[in-house]
Amino acid sequence: AKDKGKSNFQFYTKGLSYSVAYKVKLESDLRKALEQEQFTLHYQPQMNILTGQLVGMEALIRWQHPELGTISPEQFIPIAEETGLIVRIGEWVFQTACRQAMEWQRAGHSDLSMAVNLSLRQFMQSNLVQMLTDILQSTGLSAKHLQLEISESMAMDANHTLRTLNGIKGLGVNVSMDDFGTGYSSLSYLSQFPIDKLKIDQSFLSNGSPRNKAIVKTIIDMANNLEIAVMAEGVESQSHVDFLKGLTCHEAQGYYFSEPLATVEAEAFIQRYKKV
Ligand code: C2E
Ligand code: CA
Ligand code: CA
Ligand code: CA
Repeated sequence: AKDKGKSNFQFYTKGLSYSVAYKVKLESDLRKALEQEQFTLHYQPQMNILTGQLVGMEALIRWQHPELGTISPEQFIPIAEETGLIVRIGEWVFQTACRQAMEWQRAGHSDLSMAVNLSLRQFMQSNLVQMLTDILQSTGLSAKHLQLEISESMAMDANHTLRTLNGIKGLGVNVSMDDFGTGYSSLSYLSQFPIDKLKIDQSFLSNGSPRNKAIVKTIIDMANNLEIAVMAEGVESQSHVDFLKGLTCHEAQGYYFSEPLATVEAEAFIQRYKKV
């Protein structure tokens, strides 16, 4: 991410990490970003590669900083987590993504689902299920069109995780496990919790070594055996698509289909894939 925005350069200390000053600045600016409407959502298409249909969009947050330009979520989400600001930001993301999904529903894209990323801190909020209930109600979006993406870092307290996931599932909302295969406890997570979909982490495709290919194949077989849906992330080429088709992996997301798109471009993309 270091090449994204020359203006950030001054904040790097000898290319190793961000300087403390940079972090402090981001933290204080982050406090104002919500009210100053500096966040937007981009949407990345999710495809069914067997049918060629568009099945969903993943909402990905962008921060348009007034001086520093666009700042990647990889830079500011961890700070938002540490400071607790993620709770309000995350609520804004849900609200915005669900409202957008409902607009697309109303425009006739009745099968399109919206995937939203959930952070650990949000997941630990005792009122998460209530918040989701309220947002679904106020936007009118049907729960089955919402897909929550969680990561296994969220399983620190198994009882809480199970209770929360059951609450979410009780609403009719679907749960995907993001970045699957990169953590330490993926399998125990799968054995304990009600997960609807695995998203195979993009690192396995991007380094397509024989070993990684075997891992991708194994994850897909496992998901099929468990009757869990599976989506490959980081699909960048036709050869990735061919490889996945051969393994009967139905769903895929990545630059090969589209990078994350601003709302207007996302709408154009949806239009192209509209069912007739
Ligand atoms: P993620 O959820 O794993 O999202 C996928 C990331 O991979 C996105 O980066 C996306 O732009 C990028 N990507 C998509 N296709 C490809 C591809 O073919 N090749 C490669 N190399 N990359 C691809 P992005 O948008 O910078 O987001 C980074 C991370 O920030 C996300 O990873 C997610 O963990 C977090 N994030 C983004 N938006 C939100 C949000 O609204 N809330 C929370 N809590 N986290 C978010
Ligand atoms: Ca995700
Ligand atoms: Ca991911
Ligand atoms: Ca990731």
